[in-house]
Amino acid sequence: MSTTLISNPPEQQADDRIRLPGLSRADISAHLAEIGVDPKKLKMRTSQIFQWIYNFGVTEWDQMTNVAKPLREKLAARFSLSRPEIVERQISVDGTRKYLVRMAPGIEVESVFIPDVSKTGALCVSSQVGCTLTCKFCHTGTQRLVRNLTAQEIVLQIMMARDDLGEWPTTTDNRKLTNIVFMGMGEPLYNTDNVIEAIDTIADDTGMAIGRRRVTVSTSGVVPEIERLGEKSNAMLAISLHAANDELREQIMPINRKYPLAELMQACRNYPGLSNARRITFEYVMLKGINDSPKHARELIKLLQGIPAKVNLIPFNPWPGSPYECSDWETIERFGVLVNKAGFASPIRTPRGRDILAACGQLKSESEKMRASEKRRLAKEN
Ligand code: SAH
Ligand code: SF4
Repeated sequence: MSTTLISNPPEQQADDRIRLPGLSRADISAHLAEIGVDPKKLKMRTSQIFQWIYNFGVTEWDQMTNVAKPLREKLAARFSLSRPEIVERQISVDGTRKYLVRMAPGIEVESVFIPDVSKTGALCVSSQVGCTLTCKFCHTGTQRLVRNLTAQEIVLQIMMARDDLGEWPTTTDNRKLTNIVFMGMGEPLYNTDNVIEAIDTIADDTGMAIGRRRVTVSTSGVVPEIERLGEKSNAMLAISLHAANDELREQIMPINRKYPLAELMQACRNYPGLSNARRITFEYVMLKGINDSPKHARELIKLLQGIPAKVNLIPFNPWPGSPYECSDWETIERFGVLVNKAGFASPIRTPRGRDILAACGQLKSESEKMRASEKRRLAKEN
């Protein structure tokens, strides 16, 4: 494992120009219009700059060789191509990379890059700082909501991972970062508009070109937002199910009181574009003695009947003070076999990045702890 603490050079910290990376095509266009770009050329200029930012990942205006120098100077005076600060970066022995990014003072978010054996890799991005929901097994659920992330802040997480992986300019082959999953901090469907805008930006063919079928949005079950997400984003859907009866689901996920299973399953059946080739992923965290018996597996199978579904069995990742333990491996396997025999793929998600605590909400708390102990050490020294 290696941990890097990075801080930006002072001139970047003092930069008060408007940052363009992460913005939508429409916002970039509006900013160009503001500085007086010829309206007849606005569309063309926007496309050029959009491509430099998102296809080539440039960070200096002078790299935009097809933009005349006087315009480059005007752009540079007003807009920056910089990234926010990476407060901490950890690389696991298994290649998992975890980032803590400071988007603004007090706005720190984590994203995790998880390489796969099959030459694909997913970046797990955050949609909020903290979460209003209080799922009992989730560490983010113990942190109050600070605010929604902007679409720009969501897109920047992906750009910064690509900076770190050295994956500019965008190519169609040999990319390590191929998929995006909204499974970091926060509930994406309490920030649906920004999530949809971010997906539009990253899916743009002339930019990062991450196909919409390679983007998965995970929700705890915000029923009224599910259909709109599908219609507007065409993204794949994952549901954090974790229990297949209302009584148990209410205990571990309070949102189930607001949107019970019958409504949630109906919203799943209606998800736009659903087919055997585009299944919904149901996430099921394995909690010892809580939701992991053969009876629970049978309930789950019954609930999923008629839905093109696959089940992701997630070994519970404990955190300090968590009220649960992870089910035994044999119990998880037995559960998986039952679900699989009923016709649903049921892979067990292999724990990744264990050595760097790459589970939801953990990097932030770890680094906070580290900073607290650092402060104590400094206080002692003074
Ligand atoms: N709020 C969204 C997305 C973020 S959570 C949602 O709930 O779906 C991403 C996934 O990690 C969810 O399936 C969540 O239930 C799961 N998760 C949260 N804490 C976990 C833990 N300690 N161990 C294993 N999985 C966890
Ligand atoms: Fe929020 Fe998802 Fe964690 Fe529940 S599981 S507290 S919805 S981040």
